[in-house]
Amino acid sequence: MARWIMHVDMDAFFASVEQFRNHPELVGRPVCVGHDPKGGNGRGVVRAASYEARAKGIHAGMPVSKAYRLCPDAAFVDGTFESYSIASDEFMDVLREFADGERIRRASIDEAYIEVTQRCENYEHPTALAKEIQEEIWQRTRLPCSIGIAPNMAVAKVATGMNKPRGITFVGPDQTTIEKFLEPLPVDAINGVGRKTTQRLNESGIETLGQIQRMSIPELWPAMGRGSVWLFQRARGIDERPLMDNGPRIRKSISKDLTFMEDIEPDAVDYLHNAIRKMCTRISDRLKQKALRFRTVTVKMRYDDFITIQRSKSIPVETDDTRILERMAVDIFDHKRDPKKPVRLVGIKVSGLSETPEQLYLTEFL
Ligand SMILES: [Mg+2]
Repeated sequence: MARWIMHVDMDAFFASVEQFRNHPELVGRPVCVGHDPKGGNGRGVVRAASYEARAKGIHAGMPVSKAYRLCPDAAFVDGTFESYSIASDEFMDVLREFADGERIRRASIDEAYIEVTQRCENYEHPTALAKEIQEEIWQRTRLPCSIGIAPNMAVAKVATGMNKPRGITFVGPDQTTIEKFLEPLPVDAINGVGRKTTQRLNESGIETLGQIQRMSIPELWPAMGRGSVWLFQRARGIDERPLMDNGPRIRKSISKDLTFMEDIEPDAVDYLHNAIRKMCTRISDRLKQKALRFRTVTVKMRYDDFITIQRSKSIPVETDDTRILERMAVDIFDHKRDPKKPVRLVGIKVSGLSETPEQLYLTEFL
């Protein structure tokens, strides 16, 4: 039976967070994340470009001055790393829910692998599950992504890049199909084949994965040396690595998000407070189950336009007191939210966790 691995890669991640979450007025416009180009005299490089900007020839790593010359009416925004990190946590959470055994392998801030072999048994085809995941990520995070599905991580990663943005690419499951898929691709389509390796291979007349498929390991050796076995396998789509979770082993935080069925009007304060208190109670139950105490409370607020902020507050001594948690959360919410905007989501997180010291009972002294 084939394994099914999905590689999920967010489309133009930083630029998408700016367009769809931080600055909804920029949807559909060329957007560059990077410093102000100051009419072509600014310094610095483009950190990310939206697809509209890419269509004008702009790409990440390009000086902002050059990007400005290519497209003077592109919007340049200084990115805020915090908003990317919030968005990353959110879609990783969605992926975890779909993954077999909740195992997820994060490859970077905007891409991850999940195994879905068991989950696929309930679907007519793996692509149906991929569509559902894509839709769920869009609904919950307002971010577009592309998904590659294949029997292993290496092939899934190549597949994702084939149809961007918002694409789904399915490969497999038999060896012939996999080899046919890889055959026409340039050698650097393989994750791990960098610029130097590509150059060395090209100098030996090797341009495509198909060429490597027809070579033996000794034939590859002059160009690849010890990497020959690895490339021999990857070019044929062979990758036996198990998918190991690389999430944090020790829980650094406990959190709960609530998206309302309908956006809540800003003056429905009691309703919002109640929702916050309920989440605090659930988090507090979890803390007690795990014998943990917190020092920091973070409240996340998302408005109807998808703009998302989060604010934190810490206390000097750890506690697991539900009432303190509630009071801190409500207090942050009341003071930090924009009182004019309808609320779409509220999230509560506790961090700075430590273990509750064992109770000393009075009887021990008697
Ligand atoms: Mg990406």
